[in-house]
Amino acid sequence: MFCKKCGIELDNKVINNEGNIPYCVNCEVLYFPKSNLATIVAITNKEKQVLLLKQNHISEYFVLIAGYYKPGESLEECATREVKEEVGLDINEMSYLSSHYYEKKDALMVAFHGKSNTNCLVLDKTEVDAAKWFSFKEALTKIRSGSIGEKILLEIGETI
Ligand SMILES: [Zn+2]
Repeated sequence: MFCKKCGIELDNKVINNEGNIPYCVNCEVLYFPKSNLATIVAITNKEKQVLLLKQNHISEYFVLIAGYYKPGESLEECATREVKEEVGLDINEMSYLSSHYYEKKDALMVAFHGKSNTNCLVLDKTEVDAAKWFSFKEALTKIRSGSIGEKILLEIGETI
């Protein structure tokens, strides 16, 4: 591992309770291990429907809106940006739900619930094949069983 700032090879430094942590002696910076960070968003509308997407590179299942965090954002801003980019909705209020570790992508998925005042979608066709509002019951049949998305739907099910 090399320092992201100055490029020299990192040493290790023993930190209490944390073990050996990569360390740049030049910049005096510790490189704690990090997973990727992403947000995943369940959008509901006034009719208590749930918005699901279909993505071109993914299977027959529908998914929730999700995307990687960009440095400088809050997680709420990340979630709001992803929704705007992928389906064109402006969500004023994002409420935190829960977080889930997604092993396949070594990502911590931070889940939010956004309520939309409009049903009108503008899709980003490079990322999204289709997006559709489903009743809560129907949404559960469209999403992969055992997925993080399913857990999130079940979590919001009682509140919408
Ligand atoms: Zn350095």
